[in-house]
Amino acid sequence: MILNQSTSNKWLKSINQQTVLRLIYSEGPISRVQLADKTGLTQQTITNIVNRLLQEDILQENVPLENGVGRKPVPLEVKSGSLYAIGIEVAVKYVRGTLVDFQKKPHAESVEMLPLTRDEGLTVQCIKKVINELLSYVPNMSQLKGIGCSIQGLVDSSTGIVLHSPGLQWIQVPLAEKLEGHYNLPVYLENDANLLAVVENLNGSLAASTHSLTFKFDHGVGGAHIMNNKLNTGANHVAGELGHIKAFYGDEAKPCHCGSSGCLTTLASYSGIKRNLGCSVEELMLRLQNNDPLAVEWSEKVEMALSMTVSNVITFLNPDHVLFTGKLIDQLGTEIRARLRQRIMENIPETCRGVKLVVLEQTPNDSILAAGLVMNQFFDVPSV
Ligand SMILES: [Zn+2]
Repeated sequence: MILNQSTSNKWLKSINQQTVLRLIYSEGPISRVQLADKTGLTQQTITNIVNRLLQEDILQENVPLENGVGRKPVPLEVKSGSLYAIGIEVAVKYVRGTLVDFQKKPHAESVEMLPLTRDEGLTVQCIKKVINELLSYVPNMSQLKGIGCSIQGLVDSSTGIVLHSPGLQWIQVPLAEKLEGHYNLPVYLENDANLLAVVENLNGSLAASTHSLTFKFDHGVGGAHIMNNKLNTGANHVAGELGHIKAFYGDEAKPCHCGSSGCLTTLASYSGIKRNLGCSVEELMLRLQNNDPLAVEWSEKVEMALSMTVSNVITFLNPDHVLFTGKLIDQLGTEIRARLRQRIMENIPETCRGVKLVVLEQTPNDSILAAGLVMNQFFDVPSV
């Protein structure tokens, strides 16, 4: 890309402003001096940016800190309580929406059940009904910065198109365009695993991380890769499909819904266990407590396959953090989790052992997470 002088100055100004704004949001309250230290920008540049953001009513100055002599540093903070976002979870059976402020505090919730007969128009109508109800709780429309949607399936977040959602029976649906045209607000889409990774990276359990992996073991198995604080979606938006990595061989390779067999998801997810073992995860866990041979065999196989798969991905990508979440992880209990952690650390080379393995204690509400897409975009630093 060739930029002329005025475009490149504007671009640089935007990169600097967003770098400062994102830092204030994720690490604030923070003073102008600390901002200059952390960003390497001059005091004058920081002053100009902060003045602009104060004028736009995005920042607030808190009470100056006492530090003995000289001018007292003034802590700066994003006025996150007065900025709003709407988050929408489009699940297979329902649409749930939440209006949150930028501190992730929920202000209103709305839920609509989806009709059993799959109809694209009716599903979009349900989404609009939920949004319309939430709009009535927004104090001032200029404070609402956008709508974020969590979708189960393949999503091209750069164009806002749902590529394929088997649960909704959608193929190539331009959902963002349909909603943006109607509401005149920016709309962002993401699949559930990517969404979790992006939002946790912004100001959650991955805030201290630059390169991370997120693995969700739930109905299926999902994964996401953040590199330099940016989501890596791959060439066709399907990067991170951990569930379809081959992890079982020979007689143990069960058929997978992707058309292949032996995928990790066939024995390490709610749907895979139901399909291939004919029982629920809850039943399997009860059997495991009673030392039932089938359950013990499953546990050994899955611990081995899961730790090998995760270790190989860590060895290849060298993340600083790996986040585990999902209903299956919640069910495994502390003993199995501890064994998995030990196996993973033993499998990876010493050079990668600085990695932090983090378990998200509770799988978060997807509609609140989806609102985080709006915040992530608002605080996004453009790439050079
Ligand atoms: Zn598969």
